[in-house]
Amino acid sequence: MQALALNTLNSIKIDKWIPDGNKPFTIFGPCSAENEEQVLLTAAGIHKNFPNNVFRAGIWKPRSRPGAFEGAGNEGLHWLKKVKEQFGMPVATEVATPEHLEACLKAGIDMVWIGARTTVNPFSIQELADALKGVDIPVFIKNPINPDISLWLGAIERIQRAGVKRIAAIHRGFQSFENSVYRYTPRWELVIDLKSLRPDIPIICDASHISGTPELIEGVVQKALDLDFQGIMVETHNNPSVALSDAKQQVTPFELKSMMDKIIIRKSDAVDIDFHQKLVELRASVDSIDDLILQALISRNNFIEQIGNYKFEKNMTILQMQRWEEILKRQLENGIASGLSPEFIKKIYELIHSEAISIQTDLFQKKNKI
Ligand code: PEP
Ligand code: MN
Repeated sequence: MQALALNTLNSIKIDKWIPDGNKPFTIFGPCSAENEEQVLLTAAGIHKNFPNNVFRAGIWKPRSRPGAFEGAGNEGLHWLKKVKEQFGMPVATEVATPEHLEACLKAGIDMVWIGARTTVNPFSIQELADALKGVDIPVFIKNPINPDISLWLGAIERIQRAGVKRIAAIHRGFQSFENSVYRYTPRWELVIDLKSLRPDIPIICDASHISGTPELIEGVVQKALDLDFQGIMVETHNNPSVALSDAKQQVTPFELKSMMDKIIIRKSDAVDIDFHQKLVELRASVDSIDDLILQALISRNNFIEQIGNYKFEKNMTILQMQRWEEILKRQLENGIASGLSPEFIKKIYELIHSEAISIQTDLFQKKNKI
């Protein structure tokens, strides 16, 4: 396999591997390669403004249910080859099995990524690692779908032990059962953990799968670059409305250009860069904690509603002073023991409790009318 990986076309990747200086490494291209025309039109649109881009397109698509578009398969590799020949952009695709990897190496694909549904499975990762032995190709490892950083680290270690030198991590967000504006919640604090545990591994942000919708992509890209990620991935399609996969989140090459024009690339030679970086990281942690607080409040309110239904059925009053006093006493004790001020706890809990009372009052009123 090594001989195949080192063919002439593959040598393109060497200078385009890790971003030089302040330019982010970009991986733009459609979610899936659908047909030759779509691939080449999209590549032309991207290449016009981002000639140094690495072109992505999924060839084998992991779909939750059978019957959906499962990718063009081996035929799509020819279209990617044409992108290389016509535009000189290195090309990347997702591999989930040793057979995919072998087909990619034969076709001269420059870089491969391992998808979120594969990173969750150490057996699959090990099979890929075994197939990568002796192969000199950059490998990007997406975070697992579930927020388990050790699975992500483990996948990186397995691929590294196979001898792969050029490895990067792709942050594509995590599945969550809580309400979120994101398709996959970013959980930036987990990526910061990965960065501090493995400072040698570059991180690329897949802003499209985190966002799930074009409007959020710019904010995610800006945040990733402010957190000093080395690169970004954005799914780009010449006509997203007819895309066969991830139609809702893809942008046109034109939209991509307008978005990227608004992105501020902060230089690492600024005098206060360390301070700035620290501040951005701390704020990212605060944002993640705020998300957790909000999620906890939502879950709390769901239980409050269930209790309300129960009280209504049993003809119990909404307000029960003894219960409220117990709650406040318990949290005052907990909070004070952890160094929080009693005034702060009291204020917060009064608000939380009054919200619970109004949730149950509304519920009673609604039920009384039925
Ligand atoms: C993709 O990049 O199109 C993809 C399937 O991503 P993920 O593995 O992150 O879901
Ligand atoms: Mn996709």
